[in-house]
Amino acid sequence: MRDNDIDFDYLDLESAGLSAPFSIEAFCGSARAGTLTTNHGPLQTPCFTSASNAAGLPELGPDELREVGVQALVVNTAGLSHHLGAAAIAAVSDLHRFLGWGGPIIGTVGSEQIFGLTDSGGVHGRLLGVTEDGVTFADHLDGTRRTMTPESSLAMLEAMGVDFAVPIYRAQLKPSRRTPDPELDRQWAERAMAARSRNDCLLLMGIPIHAIQGPALASFLTSLPGDGYAFAARPVTGLNARSEGPNGRFRHLSDDSGPLGFAQAVQGGFDCISSQAATRAARAGLAFTFAGPVSLADGVSLLDRQPIEPGCPCYTCLNFTWPYLQHLHTAQELLAPRLLAIHNLTFFVTLARRLRTAILEARLDSEVEEIARLYPTSGS
Ligand SMILES: [Zn+2]
Repeated sequence: MRDNDIDFDYLDLESAGLSAPFSIEAFCGSARAGTLTTNHGPLQTPCFTSASNAAGLPELGPDELREVGVQALVVNTAGLSHHLGAAAIAAVSDLHRFLGWGGPIIGTVGSEQIFGLTDSGGVHGRLLGVTEDGVTFADHLDGTRRTMTPESSLAMLEAMGVDFAVPIYRAQLKPSRRTPDPELDRQWAERAMAARSRNDCLLLMGIPIHAIQGPALASFLTSLPGDGYAFAARPVTGLNARSEGPNGRFRHLSDDSGPLGFAQAVQGGFDCISSQAATRAARAGLAFTFAGPVSLADGVSLLDRQPIEPGCPCYTCLNFTWPYLQHLHTAQELLAPRLLAIHNLTFFVTLARRLRTAILEARLDSEVEEIARLYPTSGS
C-alpha cells in the first residue's frame, strides 16, 4: 500500500442480498485484475472502454469496435435524447439492439450535462431548478419541461437493458450551485438503490469531478450504496484495493488522458477506464505506439514500406504503410482518422491487456514506468 493510498471498508454485496458478479483475481499495490460477469458477456479487468456522447464513435461502427477488442461501451443517453427527443428514448426498450452492440453497456443519463446547464439556457437546454426530489430542466429542442429523479433516471436505464446504470445523483451538482447537504446526497443514493428492479444491472454511483479528496473520500464512498462507482475524474489519492475482499465494488473512470494517464489510473485501482483520447489523437494525426507517439506530420521516406507500428495486429497496420496514411492525412481524407482510430483503439486495448498481465505477475510498477518513459506526461 502506498503512503497516499486511502482505505475504505468493504461492502459485502452478497450478504446485502445483491448480486456480486465482480471477482477479483489478483492485487498488485492498489491495482487489481478481475472478471466481471454481465448478461452480455464478461469483462476482463482492467479494461478499456469506448465512450461517446451520442452512442457509437464518430469514426467506427460497433463491428469495428468488436474487431479491435473493445469490451464495453459507455453510452450517454442524454446524447441520444438530444438528437431523438425524450419520447423516442423512452420507446427504446433494447439499447443493445438499437445500437447494434452485443457487449456490455454502461448507461449514464448525462448528469454532468444536466447539472452543467445554466439558468439562462444554452445549446443543451436550461436548468429550471433542483429540489430535494430531483432536477427540472427545459429540453433544448422544444423547451419541454422535464424532471429527472434518482428513481426515474434509474428506471429509464433499466428499461433500456443496460448492464451498468449510473443514475442522476445530487452530489454531481457543482458545490457553488447547491447547499452542502451530505445527508440529502446520501438519500438520493439510497432512493436510487431502493428503486432498483433488476439485480442483473449493476448500480454505479456517480462521483463528480469536484469530489472531496483525501481521507474524507473514503468515508464518502463507504457511505454510498450500490455495486460500484463511476468517477468523472481520477482522484488525487489512490483507491486501496486490499481492503476489499474477492468480490469488490466495481470502479469505472471517465478519463481522457493518454497512455500514461490510463496506466496510472489502473495503478490507482480503477477497473474500467473510458477515454476518447484514441479517437481525438487520430483526428490530429497522432498514433500511439509501444515505441512512443508517432505524428503523421513527421517526415517519412516514400520508400518506407513499414506500417505505423510493425507487429501490431490491427487492420490498419496489416494493410497500410506509414507514407500512405501520411498522404491521406495531408489530403484530409476521412479515411485517415478512421484508420488511425482503429490503430489507436487497438493500442489501448493492448495496453489494458499488458497491464492486466503485469498485475497477475506482480510487476505492474515496472510496466507503468516503461509507459512513463515513452509518454512523459499523463495527458499525452
Ligand atoms: Zn496498428
